[in-house]
Amino acid sequence: MPKLASPEKPAELNLCLQWWAIPGESIAEKLDFLEANGFAAVEIPSGDWPMKNADAMIEAMRGRKLFLATACGPSDFSYADPAKREAEVQKFLPVLEALGRMKSVGLILCPARGKLSEPGHLSGKELRKDFVENTGKRLAEHAAKHGTAIVLEPLRRNETPFLRQVADGARMAADIGRGATVMGDFWHMGLEETSFMGAFICAGKLLSHVHIAGLKERIIPGVHPEADQYVDGFKGLKLIGYRGAVSFEGGWPKNPADSKKEIPQEEKTRLIRNMVKLLREQWAMA
Ligand code: MG
Repeated sequence: MPKLASPEKPAELNLCLQWWAIPGESIAEKLDFLEANGFAAVEIPSGDWPMKNADAMIEAMRGRKLFLATACGPSDFSYADPAKREAEVQKFLPVLEALGRMKSVGLILCPARGKLSEPGHLSGKELRKDFVENTGKRLAEHAAKHGTAIVLEPLRRNETPFLRQVADGARMAADIGRGATVMGDFWHMGLEETSFMGAFICAGKLLSHVHIAGLKERIIPGVHPEADQYVDGFKGLKLIGYRGAVSFEGGWPKNPADSKKEIPQEEKTRLIRNMVKLLREQWAMA
């Protein structure tokens, strides 16, 4: 094991679900489900959801043990046209303000989407310089001013030409400075990292969020238990004293009765509880 200074406070496994995956219709029903099933955090959509629902969320979260992790939605700061990049920055400024009001950990951003060097897009050094000194920097500063952060998400090579490793995102967040953090998504990391533990250690204190999915299929962990091994990654989270959320981002297994229909809600709920048990067991082993 690497020799690292012990974290000031021990790490915590704070399990989290994305909004769409939580059973229930109303905000209160969804938050009740999370609390009753051992979750500690909630992840909300990005877009205009935070602005539309901030007041209701603040009210609904009052007196609960849950914390508001991140908001997640598409972003792209790689347009070669400065006006298009500026429009993307402007789009997220009010989202950050709403997240700050809700005391959210931060806004997940992917600096670039698509394939390598698409026409009309910046890539490589050019994009890094612009994101660190301009678009990302301004959003991070705005986030910090409102008590939240931007959260850089490394993706897979088929999804982004730019940010694919947690260590790279952590370096970018450090270069941006105040208001910038990084996250790790086990699904993307499974392809892009040589070591889950090493990647999380590289992020250290800048790690503010984690996504988790099955490692064989991007569905809820526990459907392929032989493949869903997170102990190495959890060791990394323990070594850095991580206390943020570990949030399920993925789909459901196919419906064996009818491939065109989703599995029934009671099966989804069973799989959610099965995931909680599996992740708790692996956290204890780490
Ligand atoms: Mg993700």
